[in-house]
Amino acid sequence: MLSVDQPYEIVIGLEVHVQLRTTTKLFCRCATQFGAPPNTNVCPVCLGMPGALPVINEHAVQLALQTGLALGSTIPPMTKWDRKQYFYPDLPKGYQISQFDLPICDGGHLTIADPADESQTRTIRLIRAHLEEDAGKSMHDEANGRADSRIDLNRCGTPLLEIVSQPDMRSAAEAKAFLTELKLLLTYLDVSDCEMQEGSLRVDANVNLKIEKAGDTIATPIVEIKNMNSFRAVERAIAHEAQRQYHEWEETGLTIKDRTKRTFGWDDAAERTVPQREKEEAADYRYLPDPDLLPICLSVETVEATRVALAEFPAVARQRLQSDYEIKAYDADVIVNQGRGVVEYFEAVAKGSGDARRASSWIQQDVLRTMKEQGKGIADFAVSADTLAELLGQVSAGKLDNARARDVFQHLLEKRGSVAEAIKALGIESVDAGEIESLCQELLDANPQVVEDVRGGKMQAIGSLIGQAKKKNPNVNPKQFREICLQLIQSAG
Ligand SMILES: [Zn+2]
Repeated sequence: MLSVDQPYEIVIGLEVHVQLRTTTKLFCRCATQFGAPPNTNVCPVCLGMPGALPVINEHAVQLALQTGLALGSTIPPMTKWDRKQYFYPDLPKGYQISQFDLPICDGGHLTIADPADESQTRTIRLIRAHLEEDAGKSMHDEANGRADSRIDLNRCGTPLLEIVSQPDMRSAAEAKAFLTELKLLLTYLDVSDCEMQEGSLRVDANVNLKIEKAGDTIATPIVEIKNMNSFRAVERAIAHEAQRQYHEWEETGLTIKDRTKRTFGWDDAAERTVPQREKEEAADYRYLPDPDLLPICLSVETVEATRVALAEFPAVARQRLQSDYEIKAYDADVIVNQGRGVVEYFEAVAKGSGDARRASSWIQQDVLRTMKEQGKGIADFAVSADTLAELLGQVSAGKLDNARARDVFQHLLEKRGSVAEAIKALGIESVDAGEIESLCQELLDANPQVVEDVRGGKMQAIGSLIGQAKKKNPNVNPKQFREICLQLIQSAG
């Protein structure tokens, strides 16, 4: 988007590395579990010892297939393995097993809400998604004033799916929206835990600018910002890199034709992108087909069976909640964006209470707020869906007012137990109609002005009596009190 303060358009393509949720590695039986002591989950295969032979983990292939189908990719009938050869201390084999010219997923797209106008959508096209093994991790100890570097090879051979987008994004906010929706989809499909702080989802961003000058469009050289593991980092790195490229262009005038792609890192503390090494061209990696692994042929039957068995996508869930429960698009969006666990909780409360709108509003306000305060997920939430459904059912039936229901909810959060137990413990008693009627009569007699106001059409005048009624008997239901007062005034009139 061109504007006065931003005289350029940002062009962004993302490469997202997703760790697939398998218990063992891509080509051996070593565990993929995070946080094990260094170099304990390793074997001759993932270390690349001479003579060790890789054996493909079919579960990883299945998870990649599910992801590709959910992203609308074409699944070619054959996919093969290639060695990407480079030297790095965390890669003892000297090559990474990846996929070069025949990836498991071809093309595809992801539709996101347009951050510039939430009522519109944007479709981001994908180039491909391919499987590859992860490398190890270097642990540098310079911070402690020591010169030694250590290598942990537990991550060697962990299955990754690299999802590569077209350069279709035009702002840092759009890149963030793409990543947020992709992460949500991956967790709905349960193909990855997407734990970014554990490195299960890492992002590289290819960024350059299009600058309009004297009727010409100039493109700046592409920079790849590597290995970001938070959406905040991605957003800020892109914003910073765009400004840096614009200033660089102002100073040097260099365009995409003058300079090959460079690799930068993101320095979070300094809040700037910093050059790393010059990017190797694909030819520098000397890709060659892996001689130890056969190509995989996926039958039409396998692909179709996988497609049929796919979990519901977030985009489908948003539509379904609106049509099945008659809640607003905004509310469906909030619930769906909380993950599949919250959708299931909402549906159970909506069905159990018979009041979907009340369920939606209680979950968005009381349940999500408490979850945030406690730092817990819905699976650990103290009030079960059945219990909340029962509580909201009583509100809908007029047996409890909202304020009293919140007291019960708070009690359930702290003490758990049933709705009946909480009502008993809080001393909430239902007040019979006769008792409310005499209370109404008493207050109406004492406040003739209110009676006159209501006769004159000012129904809200009753409101001033509700506070007094609650003082005399905290168990009085305001709705019931109001109705009985109105009846009394009418019958007296
Ligand atoms: Zn191994």
